Amino acid sequence: MTTIPRHSAAIILAGGQGKRMGRGKQYLELAGRPMLELAAEAFLSPGGFEELVVVLTPADMARYGSGWEARGFKTAPAGPTRMASLKNGFKKLSGGIKLVAVHDGARPLVSARVVAGTLRAAAAHGAAVPAVPLKDTVKRISADGTFFEETPDRSRLMAVQTPQCYRKDILAGVLKTARAGTDYSDESQVLEKLGVRPAVVGSDYRNIKITTPEDLIIAEAFMNEKKEKKETAGRMRFGFGYDIHRLVEGRPLVLGGIKIEYPKGLLGHSDGDVVLHAVCDALLGAVAAGEIGIYFPPTDLTIMGLSSSTIAEKVLEILKARKASIINIDATIVAEEPKLKPHYENIRQSVARILKLDLDNVSVKAKSREGLGEVGHGDAIVCYAVAGVLK
Ligand code: MG
Repeated sequence: MTTIPRHSAAIILAGGQGKRMGRGKQYLELAGRPMLELAAEAFLSPGGFEELVVVLTPADMARYGSGWEARGFKTAPAGPTRMASLKNGFKKLSGGIKLVAVHDGARPLVSARVVAGTLRAAAAHGAAVPAVPLKDTVKRISADGTFFEETPDRSRLMAVQTPQCYRKDILAGVLKTARAGTDYSDESQVLEKLGVRPAVVGSDYRNIKITTPEDLIIAEAFMNEKKEKKETAGRMRFGFGYDIHRLVEGRPLVLGGIKIEYPKGLLGHSDGDVVLHAVCDALLGAVAAGEIGIYFPPTDLTIMGLSSSTIAEKVLEILKARKASIINIDATIVAEEPKLKPHYENIRQSVARILKLDLDNVSVKAKSREGLGEVGHGDAIVCYAVAGVLK
């Protein structure tokens, strides 16, 4: 669920000087885009946040402030500490806001799922913080940094991230309680003083904070992965196919390209293979290329007795011409007789062979009609198929 609760605002903190990166790190580029822009984008979902505030250094305010405002963000100047910056951002919120997400501009890979999940947990518990289990063992060192002194139980420790989310009245309390001049690493630290326990929200290891140059390399790899997934998702298409043939005496029964021993078979101009016909229609549907009757009209007498694997070959050609490749096929046969369970594997292997697919990507199953209607009386066999393709 990525729905943002109503009356939510986000404050994105980008006032850091990037001491460890040597320059204003929020403007470092990831996949050719400034990191801060990517971080802000996660909060821009339509119908999502009512208000967005970005907290910038005074120099960045002068340079980029109007650009942010043009994109619907309010801007606020950073203060000397994170808490002071947050206070300045908080002042920009309108009275109607009920929930506030505070995000670090150096976390460009935050997902919509983490943002929404943390806000919902904050609505329920007053405050919530996304976190991941520690992978490394953590040890406490002596005050002078020369010796290890203690190993805390790792199962009770988590690495916290942002956005840390609050009911607005609770965040107001935090800002009031925070002592001026103290540099808290995050505002949820002050909650502990107020006796509010923020809820733990399981987050994602990809939501890293870019702090040192090597973090950029890791983030870049995550960005590429995200891009590939997005590109793949954008190319996915689906199609649906259906076919029915009469079951009559004196015909061979061909399903999915294999002959099944049975006294009756399917009537048709071709071999009457309902499975391949439904599957082929699903494939053509996925690329919006019509249905098999267009390419093999029943009025064409030359196709009498045609093997349906020829139809499948033609469909593969059409897919190839449209630069589409098959992801998977799922076919459901509806037949009262014969019982098809013993033939699942053979039909599956045959369909996979005809369509040049890995067996993993082909599913064939059958249902009966419980004795109802024509199919239930054994007068016909039906097949439904769904196909996924990448185009
Ligand atoms: Mg047919």
